[in-house]
Parts: sequence; structure tokens; C-alpha cells
Amino acid sequence: MPLLRQLEFAFKTEAASVSDASRFTQRSGYRAVYLEEKARELLRAYGAYRMARELRVEWNSRLKTAAGRADYRQKLISLNPQLFEHPTEIDRTLRHELAHILAQFRAARRRVLPHGAEWRQACCDLGIADEKRCHNLPFKVSESARRYVYKCPQCQRDFPRVRRIMRAVACLACCRAHNGGEFDARFRLKLVRL
Ligand SMILES: [Zn+2]
Ligand SMILES: [Zn+2]
Repeated sequence: MPLLRQLEFAFKTEAASVSDASRFTQRSGYRAVYLEEKARELLRAYGAYRMARELRVEWNSRLKTAAGRADYRQKLISLNPQLFEHPTEIDRTLRHELAHILAQFRAARRRVLPHGAEWRQACCDLGIADEKRCHNLPFKVSESARRYVYKCPQCQRDFPRVRRIMRAVACLACCRAHNGGEFDARFRLKLVRL
């Protein structure tokens, strides 16, 4: 059942804060134009020339817990500025969202499932064959909003949440370290505080 395969990213919390976001966007590797050019180059490599001309990439602070979003009709990839706290995930998130665009581009008018076979194929083509469907990150939420705290029974990392987690969610760091990145119920997050 795909719902049971949802994975949760676990990261070390680093010093950078969202207020550093604007400074980060000035750095070459993180600038939207740079990411946009990278995305366009990947699209051209797969013959999606028209999409490559029109695709835009933006940082959008309205994204809350999603790391990124792909809007095929608007030809727009939005990335969450909180990714600055997880710089190694920026490229992967860009490719994840780009895979949504590429999969729908290839399917033309036929609708494809968001994380279905076409998307997985696109992920392989874009160099992230092991990508999982979940693109939530343990983004900081304001202290008052953190109503639920979950914990990984293996690495003991905390996962503060605004809402109760209704699905089986496991710690991705531990799934990667001990189970090849596949969902493993041993690392399922446990509710420790309401
Ligand atoms: Zn996705
Ligand atoms: Zn863990």
C-alpha cells in the first residue's frame, strides 16, 4: 500500500535560519536563475525543448512543509526557502519537482499519477533513481504550533509536527542507513508528546 511507504526526512539542524534566505539566494549555487538554467539544461537533454524555454524556478516562502512544488500548467517549480537549512537537498528537490514536469510533458494530454511509473522513470533519467515520493522536510514550525512531537526510535531525532501524522511514517535517515532507503517499520516515528 503506497501510503505506508511515506518517508520522513531527518536532518541535523543547522545554524542557518530562514531570515538568511535572502542572503543565500544571492549565492550563485542557490540563485533561482542558476537552478532554472540547470533545470532547463536537463529538460533539453531529454528533448523537452519547448518546456525548457518556458520553465521557471522560484523560491517561495509560502510553501510550508513541502520542500517543493511543481505546477505543470504554470510551468513553474517552487522551492521552499527552508531548504537553505538543508543545502544538500536543494538539487534533489529540484530534480524531484522537475521529474513531475518531465513526466507530464512526455505524457502530453494523458494525465499521469503524481508519483506513478512515469514520474519514477523521469526520476531515473534525472539521476535520482532512488527518490521517494515524500517531499516533506522537518521544517521549523513556530513553538506554539508544534503540537505533536514524534521521535525516531533508532536515532532519537525529534520531528515536531503541527498536525497528527495519520500515516505510517519512518525516519528516512535510518531507513537509508539500515534498509537501503526502503520503508522499515522498525524506524516508524512514535508520538512522544501531545
Ligand atoms: Zn512529488
Ligand atoms: Zn532515525
